[in-house]
Amino acid sequence: MEDLNFNRIVSQQFDRAARFLKVAPSLLAQIKACNNVYYFQFPVRFGGDHYEIFEGWRAEHSQHQKPCKGGIRYSELVNADEIMALAALMTYKCAIVDVPFGGSKGGVRFNPKKYSAEQIEKITRRYTSELIKKEFIGPGENVPAPDVGTGEREMAWMADTYDAFKPGGIDNLACVTGKPISQGGIAGRREATGRGVQYGIREAFRFKEDCDRLGLTMGLDGKRVAIQGFGNVGYHTAAFLSQEDGCRIVAIGEWDACVVNPGGLNILELDSYRKATGSVRDFPGGQTLPTDAFWDTECDIMIPAALENQVTLENCGRIRAKVLAEAANGPTTPGAEEQLHARGVMIIPDVFLNAGGVTVSYFEWGKNLSHMRFGRLQKHLDEMRNTRLVAAVEGCMGKPFTETDRKFLAHGPDEIDLVNSGLEETMVTAYREIRNVHFTKAPDESMRVAAFIIAIERVATTYEQLGIFP
Ligand code: NAD
Repeated sequence: MEDLNFNRIVSQQFDRAARFLKVAPSLLAQIKACNNVYYFQFPVRFGGDHYEIFEGWRAEHSQHQKPCKGGIRYSELVNADEIMALAALMTYKCAIVDVPFGGSKGGVRFNPKKYSAEQIEKITRRYTSELIKKEFIGPGENVPAPDVGTGEREMAWMADTYDAFKPGGIDNLACVTGKPISQGGIAGRREATGRGVQYGIREAFRFKEDCDRLGLTMGLDGKRVAIQGFGNVGYHTAAFLSQEDGCRIVAIGEWDACVVNPGGLNILELDSYRKATGSVRDFPGGQTLPTDAFWDTECDIMIPAALENQVTLENCGRIRAKVLAEAANGPTTPGAEEQLHARGVMIIPDVFLNAGGVTVSYFEWGKNLSHMRFGRLQKHLDEMRNTRLVAAVEGCMGKPFTETDRKFLAHGPDEIDLVNSGLEETMVTAYREIRNVHFTKAPDESMRVAAFIIAIERVATTYEQLGIFP
């Protein structure tokens, strides 16, 4: 039987990379340990004398950089081990994409699908007030974000609750990210994780020798992609890859069914269908199969974007993809990873690939602290200069640009342009660093080891510079 304890799996991943580093064992132990875990139970009254007791967690894995950062998960499966593992991954992820935060994660154990919006609001506000009491939330201490089962709505409730408890705090909005734009959010945060997955996979297909080794052509055009999970991350990844990169999304796996279409699913139609019916099942634009059939999909790239421990020793033998791109956190067990790696499958690891969310959260946090929308200062100036430049070039060429080209060249950056540009730069730089460390330090290991080597080195350097470990 495979050990599926998520926290132990992340520890093993850490240990595997640590062997390649000359870092003092005591410092390694400190980096690996989860510094604080706050567990609490809280009652919520749903009218009359009907009370329910909920279990909540917030783990702070590392405070080597402040604030700590990480999502809030609402699910029946939430437990202490899962929260600690996810908090640890946040520390390493932030280090890999050079975002100056420590790692954290939180959650409440319940199934949001079984509760009304009004009830979820009560749970969220009460959970937040518990975090406030123990200082497990605050712009300089700990900044939550969305994860499985939560989104902009919950983040807005959290920010509002924080503001009610800390009236007059000028930076209060920076206590949580992933908020609606009208409540201090940032353009592009909702889709940021999927965008980051797109940029990360795109970069992987830019290296000819890597594509040759996999027996695939360079670039994403025409690649067959199967995605497990059609939530925030899965949907946006599917939409961007199919609409902007020419990929064919040949399968979407959900908890209750899998829909396939070798010619490519229409993702926008599937999204509308799911919103209308509550499920992807029986979507007319594809064939509906049992959930488990997902693993047999003929595809080039498989993207788990649902939950941890999905690719296991039991199903990894059925995977046909040459690239396993981990959009979810912890989707692959160590046993499955070993087998896939031995078969030459390239695994693009979660600690890098889904870092788009925290990267854009970092931008949102910075926006909240500066109290100014990105692009506000330079957009008009850039547009004036670009317009003059375009006119000068047209004069030299003796003919005008097309209307589309003129608009593109004259355009000054909006917030979304700056966010996506910063995100792309982040993902491309991090991928190249991981690839470089992979080939120079641990060529026989999977890319996850290289990603962890970078993370451990960076966190260790911060500790050493802090002087905690002489
Ligand atoms: P979500 O709740 O929006 O979506 C999850 C989807 O997975 C849902 O549609 C759900 O029905 C589906 N699902 C659940 N169990 C399944 C199963 N057994 N098989 C197939 N599908 C199943 O959550 P999300 O925000 O998209 O997060 C997905 C993953 O990405 C998680 O591992 C999360 O930690 C990770 N992640 C999310 C973000 C973010 O910004 N939201 C950032 C980084 C990482």
